[in-house]
Amino acid sequence: MPDVRIKTPNLDDIFEKWKQRAVRKDRKNMEKQFGTKGAIFSLDAVSAAEYVKETMKEAAIYFAVKKTLGAVPKGKDENTILAPKVGRETYYSFKGAGKINKENWKDDEKVPMYESIQAVPCKSCKGKGYIDDKCKTCKGTGKIEENLMVLEGEEQKKEKKPFSYPCAACYGTGNRREQCKDCGGHKNMYKYEILPVPFQTVVTGVPILHSSAQTKYEKEIGEDLHKMIEEVEGIRFSEFKDLESKVEPSLGYWNKNIKKTISAAANDYKNYQKDKDSQITTQIYLFPMIQMFCETKKGSKFEIYSLGSGNKFMVYSNF
Ligand SMILES: [Zn+2]
Ligand SMILES: [Zn+2]
Repeated sequence: MPDVRIKTPNLDDIFEKWKQRAVRKDRKNMEKQFGTKGAIFSLDAVSAAEYVKETMKEAAIYFAVKKTLGAVPKGKDENTILAPKVGRETYYSFKGAGKINKENWKDDEKVPMYESIQAVPCKSCKGKGYIDDKCKTCKGTGKIEENLMVLEGEEQKKEKKPFSYPCAACYGTGNRREQCKDCGGHKNMYKYEILPVPFQTVVTGVPILHSSAQTKYEKEIGEDLHKMIEEVEGIRFSEFKDLESKVEPSLGYWNKNIKKTISAAANDYKNYQKDKDSQITTQIYLFPMIQMFCETKKGSKFEIYSLGSGNKFMVYSNF
């Protein structure tokens, strides 16, 4: 890539552009600040040479990012638990609540969903809650068998006679119902799903501006660029590493703040490249930025900024 020198706007041109805009916006204030008592106010008399006290040559980096907010996490999990544990979980419901704004959501992105709670018949007991088994006390006979000692006749001959009575453990049925160990006798297990919160998906374009001038207008400038990038001339780069070595030859000047700004912008750029919810949608623009510190005769201080080349630039001011 050849060196492309970008022409910085002329200070008088910047001042002129600002002046025209300021007078359109509030002529009375201009007259008050720059007029002379008794004389007819003329814009021509308001010159950069007289009011600009100091000028700084700075730079700005701009690129735009498309951000997808509220990308819904994929997949679902489910839990199957014992009936008494159902009440220990906290559930969420979004029925009729519409889509959720992810920025306001402080909780997990996947949550147990109230509507998903469902009874699942226990497999071990087939949903009965118990298991029928032979009574252990009577070995399934329903009877307790004993031998009675009977002494017969005069000789009192010992004789054993069988005797049986119903088993109390099974009430004589021979069967006993044992509580199912798996479901604890509750017949069912309970299943619920941990599902993604139904976030609203919003795709927004976000302007990213880094400037070496300490300005309050970064946000405003960024938004303007987002709308009218064609109105401002800068040098475009496809990759940050190309830009880093070309800043100084392109601008024709260099300072510590510019250096800091470039590396902050480079970091930011890298983070957006890594962020799965973001996509960088423009090339990287490098703009000359001129910051002019001005003072009226009455001592009011104000600043004028320009962003762009001598061919196409925008002007900002706190006047
Ligand atoms: Zn029994
Ligand atoms: Zn069971």
